[in-house]
Amino acid sequence: MAIQLHLGDITELNVDAIVNAANPTLLGGGGVDGAIHRAAGPELKAFCRTLGGCATGQAKHSPGFALPARWVIHTVGPIWQGGDQNEARQLAHCYQNSLVLAEEIGANSIAFPCISTGIYGYPADRAARIALDVMQAWTARMQLTVCCFRESDLSHYRARLADGRRAGQ
Ligand code: ADP
Repeated sequence: MAIQLHLGDITELNVDAIVNAANPTLLGGGGVDGAIHRAAGPELKAFCRTLGGCATGQAKHSPGFALPARWVIHTVGPIWQGGDQNEARQLAHCYQNSLVLAEEIGANSIAFPCISTGIYGYPADRAARIALDVMQAWTARMQLTVCCFRESDLSHYRARLADGRRAGQ
């Protein structure tokens, strides 16, 4: 299955699991995290209190509560610090660990936001390459969507996927 690109609000997507770019407390924040907590309702925060936080690169899951998605997979992206603090590996771990968890809970479809590219400052083009590198290995097992909130992010993904097709991947 090809990776789907979507422009819009991840909270509206009708998939088994949406991924949240959370912070280590898992208790809500700004950006996509805030949007997911608002749309899921207060039960999400109450549930997340029981999860005991999450380390960078790891992933934990909760129900979706009022969301169309059945589950939310919360992962904590790295804060961009210039690129020599293991950020690329940590970002790859976010995608990989979210996919492993999605498979464990039986999700057949998953949508990702552009993790770390908002408040956490990861350069969007580099983040798109990492995201796609990990996701490409899962296309036979799951329906994968990248949910971009900004047109500029969408263009990075479009360009990368077109490069891949030209290279015969
Ligand atoms: P981080 O702290 O990981 O950088 P942000 O939430 O600030 O997290 O940004 C991550 C990405 O999520 C950014 O590309 C931002 O544009 C995007 N984003 C913000 N709100 C939404 C939303 N409702 N749906 C999908 N993506 C969103």
